[in-house]
Amino acid sequence: MPTLVMKFGGTSVANLDRIRRAAKRVGVEVAKGYDVIVIVSAMSGKTNELVGWVNETSPLFDAREYDAVVSSGENVTAGLMALTLQEMNVPARSWQGWQVPLKTTSAHSQARIEEIGTENINAKFGEGMRVAVVAGFQGISDEGRITTLGRGGSDTTAVAFAAAFGAERCDIYTDVDGVYTTDPRICQKARKLDRISFEEMLELASLGAKVLQTRSVELAMRYKVKLRVLSSFEEQSDEAGTLVCDEDEIMESNVVAGVAYSRDEAQMTLRSVADRPGIASVIFGTLSDAGVNVDMIVQDISEDGRTNMTFSLPIDQVGRADKAMDAIKGEELNYTEVVTDSEVAKVSVVGIGMRSQSGVAAKMFKVLSDEGINIKVITTSEIKISVLVDRKYMELAVQALHDAFELDKAA
Ligand code: ADP
Ligand code: ASP
Ligand code: MG
Repeated sequence: MPTLVMKFGGTSVANLDRIRRAAKRVGVEVAKGYDVIVIVSAMSGKTNELVGWVNETSPLFDAREYDAVVSSGENVTAGLMALTLQEMNVPARSWQGWQVPLKTTSAHSQARIEEIGTENINAKFGEGMRVAVVAGFQGISDEGRITTLGRGGSDTTAVAFAAAFGAERCDIYTDVDGVYTTDPRICQKARKLDRISFEEMLELASLGAKVLQTRSVELAMRYKVKLRVLSSFEEQSDEAGTLVCDEDEIMESNVVAGVAYSRDEAQMTLRSVADRPGIASVIFGTLSDAGVNVDMIVQDISEDGRTNMTFSLPIDQVGRADKAMDAIKGEELNYTEVVTDSEVAKVSVVGIGMRSQSGVAAKMFKVLSDEGINIKVITTSEIKISVLVDRKYMELAVQALHDAFELDKAA
């Protein structure tokens, strides 16, 4: 029988009523003749609560135990979804990551999927089970410990299952009815896209649009998974939601496809660092060893053999970065001080049309300047431009860019 993967995010399984609603939707696909693999998230808010408990118990926690705790929310919803389906007379069984097994690297809290065993689940399908409900976000390492795939990781579980089982489609049910030109929660004029290319979705996700986890888009692109994002709250047709697909399956598109933002950024500047070959390597090598994910970097022009080095990083890694820089201050860098700004955000415009059309950057900077928003750092790639701005201007920047690039209108 053809297989379908259906993933339900936190708000779609937030209580028993919503689980019932989601189960009904699964029942409809089973009735059409599909074997269904359902991937569930934890009930909304649950994972945050679990992370909070870990931090409160042990600020410098052991990552293996972090994963043991934070993966547990998905176990509850998987069992409840299987029970709900059984109540509806749909033969269903739940699976935790280790039971599948879904094997991952041992990079706890950020593990990557290495392999999905299909045998156990296929054997059950062979015995008449129609729905395998799998706990998203979790797996098992070579050492036999529970791992998690990073926040939002159930999306990645879903796409990986679709690839492993050759599913006809991977449907991501969430609390919005598709991928929009920007987050509809901060921009009223955001427009739902019928289609978006893998490349653009990948950039939007990695620049902060959390509607899909970045890694899930990467996997869908690599394994050619037909990926759809749609609402679990609205009546569905086969055309509902947004299809993430190859560029050549999209007829017309705007130069800029969307605007993304990332709120929780910080900026650090090492002032008056000795400027000589190798300093960037020392600074960023040390930060990388300390597990700091540096994003944007600017180095000032040097004066009298000294320079300022500025970089951006996730706000929750500032403590770690401070400690790492402190450790190498004296011996190698000789900088005078570290200045940290924790009130910044990143705003980006993304579009494959930028490859062939110039002037997007100039327009972006003009729009921000007209709004009186100062740009702190800029980075560009072939299909995106990102700026760091004061966090208090983040929403204004997103809305102004959305207006200026007329994203409310289709191409
Ligand atoms: P789930 O719990 O279903 O995984 P998430 O909260 O992880 O849902 O992702 C859905 C949210 O992503 C939406 O509620 C929306 O606020 C946010 N979002 C950010 N950017 C976009 C975008 N471009 N299109 C749609 N939603 C977006
Ligand atoms: N429950 C996990 C999280 O909140 C995984 C997910 O929902 O995708 O990050
Ligand atoms: Mg999510």
